[in-house]
Amino acid sequence: MRKYFIAGNWKMHKTASEAVALATDLVKELKAGPHKYMIAPSFTALDAVSKVVKGSNILLGAQNMSTDEQGAHTGEVSVLQLKDLGVQVVILGHSERRHTYKEDDSMINRKVKLALSHGLEVILCVGELLEEREAGKAEKVCEEQTRLGLAGVSLEDLKKVTIAYEPVWAIGTGKTATPEDADAIHAFIRKIVADMYGAAAAEAMIIQYGGSMKADNAAALLAKANIDGGLIGGAALKADTFAPIALCK
Ligand code: PGA
Repeated sequence: MRKYFIAGNWKMHKTASEAVALATDLVKELKAGPHKYMIAPSFTALDAVSKVVKGSNILLGAQNMSTDEQGAHTGEVSVLQLKDLGVQVVILGHSERRHTYKEDDSMINRKVKLALSHGLEVILCVGELLEEREAGKAEKVCEEQTRLGLAGVSLEDLKKVTIAYEPVWAIGTGKTATPEDADAIHAFIRKIVADMYGAAAAEAMIIQYGGSMKADNAAALLAKANIDGGLIGGAALKADTFAPIALCK
Protein backbone atom coordinates (compact mmCIF):
# COMPACT_ATOMS: atom_id res chain seq x y z
CA MET A 1 0.00 0.00 0.00
CA ARG A 2 1.25 3.44 -0.91
CA LYS A 3 1.29 6.11 1.78
CA TYR A 4 -0.17 9.52 0.86
CA PHE A 5 2.44 12.26 0.51
CA ILE A 6 1.05 15.77 1.03
CA ALA A 7 3.48 18.55 0.17
CA GLY A 8 3.25 22.32 0.32
CA ASN A 9 5.03 24.44 -2.27
CA TRP A 10 5.13 27.95 -0.85
CA LYS A 11 6.64 29.41 -4.06
CA MET A 12 7.86 33.01 -3.72
CA HIS A 13 5.70 33.77 -0.69
CA LYS A 14 6.56 34.63 2.90
CA THR A 15 9.48 36.28 4.60
CA ALA A 16 11.56 34.10 6.90
CA SER A 17 9.59 35.20 9.95
CA GLU A 18 6.23 34.56 8.24
CA ALA A 19 7.50 31.16 7.14
CA VAL A 20 8.57 30.30 10.69
CA ALA A 21 5.12 31.24 11.98
CA LEU A 22 3.35 28.98 9.46
CA ALA A 23 5.79 26.11 9.97
CA THR A 24 5.31 26.37 13.73
CA ASP A 25 1.53 26.08 13.34
CA LEU A 26 1.85 23.13 10.95
CA VAL A 27 4.19 21.23 13.26
CA LYS A 28 1.45 21.41 15.90
CA GLU A 29 -1.48 20.68 13.60
CA LEU A 30 0.03 17.80 11.67
CA LYS A 31 1.67 16.17 14.66
CA ALA A 32 -0.68 13.19 14.67
CA GLY A 33 -1.29 13.25 10.91
CA PRO A 34 -1.29 9.85 9.23
CA HIS A 35 0.49 10.81 6.00
CA LYS A 36 3.95 11.82 4.80
CA TYR A 37 4.44 15.60 4.80
CA MET A 38 6.77 18.20 3.33
CA ILE A 39 6.85 21.97 3.17
CA ALA A 40 9.02 23.89 0.72
CA PRO A 41 9.65 27.51 1.69
CA SER A 42 11.74 29.96 -0.33
CA PHE A 43 15.52 29.56 -0.10
CA THR A 44 15.64 32.62 2.16
CA ALA A 45 13.50 30.90 4.80
CA LEU A 46 15.03 27.41 4.68
CA ASP A 47 17.50 27.92 7.50
CA ALA A 48 14.90 29.30 9.89
CA VAL A 49 12.21 26.76 8.96
CA SER A 50 14.72 23.92 9.22
CA LYS A 51 15.03 24.61 12.94
CA VAL A 52 11.25 24.58 13.35
CA VAL A 53 10.56 21.27 11.58
CA LYS A 54 13.57 19.43 12.98
CA GLY A 55 12.39 16.32 14.83
CA SER A 56 8.82 16.71 13.54
CA ASN A 57 6.98 14.58 10.96
CA ILE A 58 7.34 17.34 8.33
CA LEU A 59 10.19 17.08 5.84
CA LEU A 60 12.00 20.19 4.67
CA GLY A 61 11.83 20.78 0.93
CA ALA A 62 13.45 23.21 -1.49
CA GLN A 63 11.73 24.46 -4.64
CA ASN A 64 14.65 24.12 -7.03
CA MET A 65 18.43 23.76 -7.15
CA SER A 66 21.34 24.21 -9.53
CA THR A 67 22.57 21.61 -12.01
CA ASP A 68 26.04 21.93 -10.44
CA GLU A 69 27.53 21.28 -7.02
CA GLN A 70 29.33 24.59 -6.93
CA GLY A 71 30.91 27.15 -9.20
CA ALA A 72 30.35 30.40 -11.01
CA HIS A 73 26.54 30.33 -11.14
CA THR A 74 25.34 33.72 -10.00
CA GLY A 75 21.99 33.55 -8.29
CA GLU A 76 21.83 29.74 -8.09
CA VAL A 77 21.69 27.51 -5.01
CA SER A 78 23.51 24.17 -4.87
CA VAL A 79 22.67 20.76 -3.52
CA LEU A 80 25.51 21.07 -0.99
CA GLN A 81 24.09 24.34 0.31
CA LEU A 82 20.61 22.83 0.60
CA LYS A 83 21.85 19.73 2.40
CA ASP A 84 23.83 21.91 4.78
CA LEU A 85 20.56 23.59 5.84
CA GLY A 86 18.84 20.29 6.48
CA VAL A 87 16.85 20.08 3.25
CA GLN A 88 15.61 16.54 2.61
CA VAL A 89 13.51 16.89 -0.55
CA VAL A 90 13.79 19.04 -3.66
CA ILE A 91 11.03 19.90 -6.13
CA LEU A 92 12.39 19.71 -9.68
CA GLY A 93 10.85 20.45 -13.06
CA HIS A 94 8.00 22.54 -11.69
CA SER A 95 6.04 24.02 -14.60
CA GLU A 96 6.99 27.54 -13.52
CA ARG A 97 10.65 26.52 -13.88
CA ARG A 98 9.97 24.79 -17.21
CA HIS A 99 7.91 27.51 -18.82
CA THR A 100 8.89 30.83 -17.21
CA TYR A 101 12.57 30.01 -16.70
CA LYS A 102 12.95 27.73 -19.74
CA GLU A 103 14.35 24.70 -17.96
CA ASP A 104 14.35 21.80 -20.39
CA ASP A 105 14.16 18.08 -19.74
CA SER A 106 17.91 17.53 -19.99
CA MET A 107 18.60 20.25 -17.42
CA ILE A 108 15.92 18.86 -15.12
CA ASN A 109 17.37 15.37 -15.53
CA ARG A 110 20.82 16.61 -14.51
CA LYS A 111 19.30 18.15 -11.39
CA VAL A 112 17.35 14.95 -10.60
CA LYS A 113 20.48 12.81 -10.82
CA LEU A 114 22.59 15.27 -8.81
CA ALA A 115 20.00 15.52 -6.03
CA LEU A 116 19.67 11.73 -5.82
CA SER A 117 23.44 11.24 -5.81
CA HIS A 118 23.54 13.40 -2.69
CA GLY A 119 20.77 11.43 -1.01
CA LEU A 120 18.00 13.99 -1.40
CA GLU A 121 14.47 12.91 -2.24
CA VAL A 122 13.08 14.39 -5.45
CA ILE A 123 9.59 15.47 -6.44
CA LEU A 124 9.69 15.45 -10.24
CA CYS A 125 6.87 17.55 -11.69
CA VAL A 126 5.33 16.75 -15.05
CA GLY A 127 2.25 18.11 -16.77
CA GLU A 128 0.82 19.47 -19.97
CA LEU A 129 -0.15 23.00 -21.02
CA LEU A 130 -3.77 23.78 -21.90
CA GLU A 131 -3.03 23.85 -25.63
CA GLU A 132 -1.29 20.49 -25.37
CA ARG A 133 -4.31 18.99 -23.61
CA GLU A 134 -6.66 20.46 -26.20
CA ALA A 135 -4.50 19.03 -28.97
CA GLY A 136 -4.78 15.57 -27.40
CA LYS A 137 -1.13 15.56 -26.37
CA ALA A 138 -1.42 15.35 -22.57
CA GLU A 139 -0.17 11.75 -22.41
CA LYS A 140 2.63 12.36 -24.87
CA VAL A 141 3.93 15.34 -22.88
CA CYS A 142 3.73 13.51 -19.56
CA GLU A 143 5.45 10.47 -21.03
CA GLU A 144 8.30 12.54 -22.44
CA GLN A 145 8.81 14.51 -19.24
CA THR A 146 8.72 11.33 -17.17
CA ARG A 147 11.11 9.37 -19.38
CA LEU A 148 13.56 12.22 -19.88
CA GLY A 149 13.37 13.39 -16.27
CA LEU A 150 14.19 9.90 -14.99
CA ALA A 151 16.75 8.97 -17.66
CA GLY A 152 19.72 7.28 -16.03
CA VAL A 153 18.12 7.04 -12.58
CA SER A 154 18.74 3.61 -11.04
CA LEU A 155 16.03 1.38 -9.67
CA GLU A 156 17.52 1.90 -6.21
CA ASP A 157 17.44 5.71 -6.52
CA LEU A 158 13.91 5.61 -7.91
CA LYS A 159 12.72 4.80 -4.36
CA LYS A 160 13.58 8.40 -3.48
CA VAL A 161 11.53 9.86 -6.34
CA THR A 162 7.94 11.08 -6.19
CA ILE A 163 6.23 12.18 -9.39
CA ALA A 164 3.83 15.13 -9.25
CA TYR A 165 1.31 15.36 -12.08
CA GLU A 166 0.49 19.04 -12.39
CA PRO A 167 -1.60 20.00 -15.42
CA VAL A 168 -0.32 23.51 -16.05
CA TRP A 169 -3.81 24.84 -16.80
CA ALA A 170 -4.91 23.86 -13.29
CA ILE A 171 -2.07 25.55 -11.39
CA GLY A 172 -3.17 28.63 -9.48
CA THR A 173 -6.23 28.98 -11.71
CA GLY A 174 -8.90 27.49 -9.50
CA LYS A 175 -9.54 24.93 -12.26
CA THR A 176 -8.91 21.42 -11.01
CA ALA A 177 -8.66 18.36 -13.20
CA THR A 178 -11.63 16.13 -12.46
CA PRO A 179 -10.65 13.21 -10.24
CA GLU A 180 -11.35 10.92 -13.22
CA ASP A 181 -9.17 12.88 -15.65
CA ALA A 182 -6.35 13.17 -13.14
CA ASP A 183 -6.55 9.49 -12.24
CA ALA A 184 -6.35 8.51 -15.92
CA ILE A 185 -3.09 10.43 -16.38
CA HIS A 186 -1.73 9.07 -13.09
CA ALA A 187 -2.47 5.55 -14.29
CA PHE A 188 -0.77 6.35 -17.58
CA ILE A 189 2.34 7.70 -15.83
CA ARG A 190 2.41 4.58 -13.67
CA LYS A 191 2.40 2.50 -16.86
CA ILE A 192 5.41 4.44 -18.14
CA VAL A 193 7.22 3.81 -14.86
CA ALA A 194 6.35 0.11 -15.18
CA ASP A 195 7.77 0.07 -18.67
CA MET A 196 10.99 1.71 -17.46
CA TYR A 197 11.47 -0.04 -14.11
CA GLY A 198 9.03 -2.95 -13.84
CA ALA A 199 5.67 -3.52 -12.21
CA ALA A 200 6.81 -3.53 -8.57
CA ALA A 201 8.55 -0.16 -8.88
CA ALA A 202 5.51 1.32 -10.62
CA GLU A 203 3.20 -0.04 -7.96
CA ALA A 204 5.33 1.58 -5.24
CA MET A 205 5.68 4.95 -7.01
CA ILE A 206 3.96 7.84 -5.22
CA ILE A 207 2.23 10.06 -7.78
CA GLN A 208 0.94 13.34 -6.39
CA TYR A 209 -1.67 15.53 -8.02
CA GLY A 210 -1.06 19.28 -8.14
CA GLY A 211 -3.20 22.11 -9.47
CA SER A 212 -5.73 23.99 -7.35
CA MET A 213 -6.00 21.18 -4.81
CA LYS A 214 -8.09 22.44 -1.88
CA ALA A 215 -9.81 21.10 1.21
CA ASP A 216 -13.06 20.75 -0.71
CA ASN A 217 -11.68 18.68 -3.61
CA ALA A 218 -8.81 16.81 -1.93
CA ALA A 219 -10.87 13.89 -0.65
CA ALA A 220 -12.36 13.13 -4.07
CA LEU A 221 -8.95 13.31 -5.75
CA LEU A 222 -7.22 11.22 -3.08
CA ALA A 223 -9.97 8.60 -3.26
CA LYS A 224 -8.79 7.69 -6.76
CA ALA A 225 -6.69 4.55 -7.05
CA ASN A 226 -3.69 6.20 -8.66
CA ILE A 227 -3.61 9.52 -6.79
CA ASP A 228 -1.25 9.22 -3.84
CA GLY A 229 -1.07 12.72 -2.46
CA GLY A 230 -0.84 16.33 -3.45
CA LEU A 231 1.62 19.07 -4.27
CA ILE A 232 -0.20 22.13 -3.07
CA GLY A 233 0.52 25.77 -3.82
CA GLY A 234 -2.11 28.36 -2.91
CA ALA A 235 -3.84 26.30 -0.26
CA ALA A 236 -0.50 25.54 1.42
CA LEU A 237 0.03 29.15 2.44
CA LYS A 238 -2.19 29.04 5.53
CA ALA A 239 -2.45 26.40 8.23
CA ASP A 240 -6.24 26.48 8.12
CA THR A 241 -6.32 25.67 4.39
CA PHE A 242 -3.39 23.21 4.35
CA ALA A 243 -4.11 21.19 7.49
CA PRO A 244 -7.54 19.95 6.35
CA ILE A 245 -5.93 18.56 3.18
CA ALA A 246 -3.01 17.12 5.10
CA LEU A 247 -5.29 15.43 7.59
CA CYS A 248 -7.76 14.23 4.95
CA LYS A 249 -8.31 10.45 5.18
P1 PGA B 1 -1.73 25.56 -6.80
O1 PGA B 1 -0.19 25.23 -7.15
O2 PGA B 1 -2.14 24.60 -5.72
O3 PGA B 1 -1.72 26.99 -6.32
O4 PGA B 1 -2.51 25.37 -8.04
C1 PGA B 1 0.26 23.92 -7.25
C2 PGA B 1 1.72 23.90 -7.67
O5 PGA B 1 2.11 24.68 -8.54
O6 PGA B 1 2.52 23.10 -7.14
